Amino acid sequence: MSRVLVLNSGSSSVKYRLFDGTETVAKGLVERIGESGGEVADHRAALQGIMDEIDLTGLAAAGHRVVHGGAEFTGPTVITDEVVARVEALVPLAPLHNPAALTGIEVARKLLPDVPQVAVFDTAFHATIPPEGVTWAISRELAERWQIRRYGFHGTSHAYVSRRTAQVLGRDPAQTNVITLHLGNGASACAVEGGRSVATSMGMSPLPGLVMGTRSGDIDPTVIFHLHRVAGLPLDEIETSLTRHGGLQGMAGVNDLRAVLDLRAAGDPDATLAFDVYCRRIREYVGSYLAVLGRVDAIAFTAGVGENSAAVRAASLSGLEPLGIVIDPERNERRDEVISPPGARIPVCVIPTDEELEIADQSRTALSLDR
Ligand code: AMP
Repeated sequence: MSRVLVLNSGSSSVKYRLFDGTETVAKGLVERIGESGGEVADHRAALQGIMDEIDLTGLAAAGHRVVHGGAEFTGPTVITDEVVARVEALVPLAPLHNPAALTGIEVARKLLPDVPQVAVFDTAFHATIPPEGVTWAISRELAERWQIRRYGFHGTSHAYVSRRTAQVLGRDPAQTNVITLHLGNGASACAVEGGRSVATSMGMSPLPGLVMGTRSGDIDPTVIFHLHRVAGLPLDEIETSLTRHGGLQGMAGVNDLRAVLDLRAAGDPDATLAFDVYCRRIREYVGSYLAVLGRVDAIAFTAGVGENSAAVRAASLSGLEPLGIVIDPERNERRDEVISPPGARIPVCVIPTDEELEIADQSRTALSLDR
């Protein structure tokens, strides 16, 4: 059994989890890095603190979550100076996300010089989407020059959950088609055909697709031109409005789905509409991916909302009974692994995601280590 340390470095936080095989032997979160009154001054201090705290004996690898791998990183990748340079070159594609991961990688390589390190990309699982699923109908020249295409995110979660779904249903993942719905603070849908992603709802960035806590999800791009030209808003402000003040936050004034549900229960019309928009968007993607896959063997809900909200699960799949998609209300409330009735044509599942475990596994795969 090899020990693997998984590090998820954000701009002001570092999440870590130490695995021995599949077992978690230590985990934690350092927050508010570099902020006044925060716990630590910088990422170096944060990682040093983590390493002082945990027992690193027998550490075989460190696995880093990296959000954007562009078109070139299609799987977990052993980190070298050259890989760091290539991830740096991708910063323009993910200016909010990749710099933090790079800082984490740089510090961890210095602090653990003898431990091999692996980058696991959120985008990599979607490298199997065929060209027609990642290409937007714009000038080819512009698209190629500026790397404009769909990349997709939440890949480790969609990979893990689709595989677990097949296992829960007693099926071979390589022969199972699953629609996975990762509904957390960020949210995305994925069509998985025999273990390979063939469609996903996020794009060049994590902004499009489903409605999220603070991100708008899909909108007509003309909205941006209109807000700029007619409303006179600067581009930065429009970006903030769509990424941080959109989604549930924008429609209902709160970003946490629990708060939306409370307001809706109290009769708040904005929260009621926000819930309806949220669930309808999920239904639209499920319908789209039924058409992409042709044969669907399961639908799986995961992440904070997907795992916990029976109301969202019920509302987002309601009316799909003629397609063989049915939810049993009692199983749904109990949050069973399978929430459809026995014998349902398309089983519906609730599968807790575990992105860190998947990163640890993929890190071992990249280094040919035993689990
Ligand atoms: P995640 O990003 O996966 O941690 O998901 C976070 C989101 O899950 C929160 O913002 C909540 O909106 C949602 N969530 C967590 N617990 C519940 C719950 N019991 N019911 C509804 N939504 C929940």
